[in-house]
Amino acid sequence: MSRLKNAPVVHKMLKIPRAVFENLIEVCKREFPNEACGLIAGVRENGVSYAKKIYPLKNIAQSPFVYETDAEEVYNAFLNIEKSGLSILGIYHSHPFSRAEPSELDRRSAFYPDMIYVIVSFEGGIVDVEAYSWDGEKFTKQSISIEDGN
Ligand SMILES: [Zn+2]
Repeated sequence: MSRLKNAPVVHKMLKIPRAVFENLIEVCKREFPNEACGLIAGVRENGVSYAKKIYPLKNIAQSPFVYETDAEEVYNAFLNIEKSGLSILGIYHSHPFSRAEPSELDRRSAFYPDMIYVIVSFEGGIVDVEAYSWDGEKFTKQSISIEDGN
């Protein structure tokens, strides 16, 4: 198989400090039973994405099954992330009642090949967090490493 000339950069691993990881779960729990959504900001180095901060966004759909962001709020979050010297690593959203796997809707609405898609599931009262990269066609599961000590 030949490589595409302009293939998107694939980020193989997402590293999250424990405090940021716990914050992510907390902000998602707060929206339960609706889906939560937001941005993950951090730095990228040699295929590793280091998450530094979570930027929660309003789910204007206010639904347990879908999320929709406000364009102006996203734009402001982008500016804040840029101002703080970080990059946008990805997008997170929660699945209050289903597994931490991209839904058919997630597939249809994915359009950032360079982004990591993090899904926080609360299905059956159990917290499960998974990360995926999007190559324009399909999601591929990525490993998440929770880092202690920062
Ligand atoms: Zn979803």
